[in-house]
Amino acid sequence: MDLFEHAAQPICPECGVTMHPEDGRDECRECGYRIEWPEAQHPGYGDDIADV
Ligand SMILES: [Zn+2]
Repeated sequence: MDLFEHAAQPICPECGVTMHPEDGRDECRECGYRIEWPEAQHPGYGDDIADV
């Protein structure tokens, strides 16, 4: 029960359970409800990746 670790996570409006961060969004593992993170963009994604 790591309540403190997920204390900052949003609550699913459908189930009322704590959501979990999943690859750039918060996701409810009960019903699959997702909240996208507006600021979560991969660095370099959408940019030219030529210098490797
Ligand atoms: Zn849910």
